[in-house]
Amino acid sequence: MKSLIEKLNGPWHKPALQVFMVIVLAHWAEHLVQAYQVYALKWPMHDARGVLGQAFPWLVHSEVLHYSYAVIMLAGIWAFLPGFVGRARTWWLAALVIQFWHHIEHFLLIWQATFHHNFWGRPAPCSVLQLVFPRVELHLFYNAVVFVPMVIGMYYHMFPPETEQGKMACTCEWGHKPSMQAA
Ligand SMILES: [Zn+2]
Repeated sequence: MKSLIEKLNGPWHKPALQVFMVIVLAHWAEHLVQAYQVYALKWPMHDARGVLGQAFPWLVHSEVLHYSYAVIMLAGIWAFLPGFVGRARTWWLAALVIQFWHHIEHFLLIWQATFHHNFWGRPAPCSVLQLVFPRVELHLFYNAVVFVPMVIGMYYHMFPPETEQGKMACTCEWGHKPSMQAA
């Protein structure tokens, strides 16, 4: 019997990655709406809470939520890595490394929020790169530098160079013949 990780990187790779991408894009949409509220609508930072955050303000102000998302991202990228081969794997691995650091930043934030002790004498929890960049912009940047290698990795996974074609255990490759896939 195949383990969960084997299934996730074999027959389930494609549907699981599709679900994962929907979550990633929904999260992106929230960040972009928030940036729009801040820059175009000139809303005060505290009120710029994306879409879900308008109905549930505690969501956006919850470090638990931000940290949970960072962990889900890290776990997802890690869990789907074995299914990637060659060039696609290199890009997916880059996303994993960057997300690992992004997750550390969120860990520092949730630690400060939990123990009510903000680093560097800041009035609010503050991560390392936040010493240099403001939080909204910084996390747009983080989401982008994780997302871009994921998309490139996904592209090479679906459209592998000739030498890597047919080497994957999953059905993600474009033009994959279902008959070849014995689950
Ligand atoms: Zn795949």
